[in-house]
Amino acid sequence: MRSSPGGSNDGGMPSGWLNDVVSVRVVIAEDEAIIRLDLLETLQEEGYTVIGETGRGDQALELVRSLKPDLAILDVKMPGMDGLEVAKVIGDERICGVLVLTAFSQREIIEQARDAGALAYLVKPYQKSDLIPAIEVAIGRFRELQALSGHVDALGEQLEARKLIDRAKGRLIDEFAMKEQDAFSFIQRTAMKERSKMREVAERIISGDLRPS
Ligand SMILES: [Mg+2]
Repeated sequence: MRSSPGGSNDGGMPSGWLNDVVSVRVVIAEDEAIIRLDLLETLQEEGYTVIGETGRGDQALELVRSLKPDLAILDVKMPGMDGLEVAKVIGDERICGVLVLTAFSQREIIEQARDAGALAYLVKPYQKSDLIPAIEVAIGRFRELQALSGHVDALGEQLEARKLIDRAKGRLIDEFAMKEQDAFSFIQRTAMKERSKMREVAERIISGDLRPS
């Protein structure tokens, strides 16, 4: 297992710093040394930064967890841990995009795995010209998934806030005989005055910490 800093590090501003900013950071795991080396060279030629490499599946997972690359390229059959298992964990933990390198006979398994997560695959022996598009697919899928889950989180938060504000309004209406519109503007005004969120004001009304004077 080997991990290396992306770019030169000879004090001061690393000379490759601009490259590092735009370069996609990759961890590769392939137990066949020749294929791994070939992959490494191709990626470097194409401007990718290989920040870690290994011939073992379990070490691949370690590297990905600690280095948090943009992409992991994983062979399927590797000592330590199967590449698909590694891919599944990476997917569950939403760490990065995954490109799986597979032998033709494993294609069906891969397609099942692909349907379950953010994964692209490439059948070995692959053409150099197929590698880059496959990498872009893997990274693209991961970004889509990230954007989607961020959107879902935001929607969930909005909904939660609305529920809390409704409950707080209900309390103001029931206990302080406020009209609905007044209850809402009380929450709104208080939030503005205190520079806090309406949901925080709502929480304090519900807990009884805040009451209209
Ligand atoms: Mg292998």
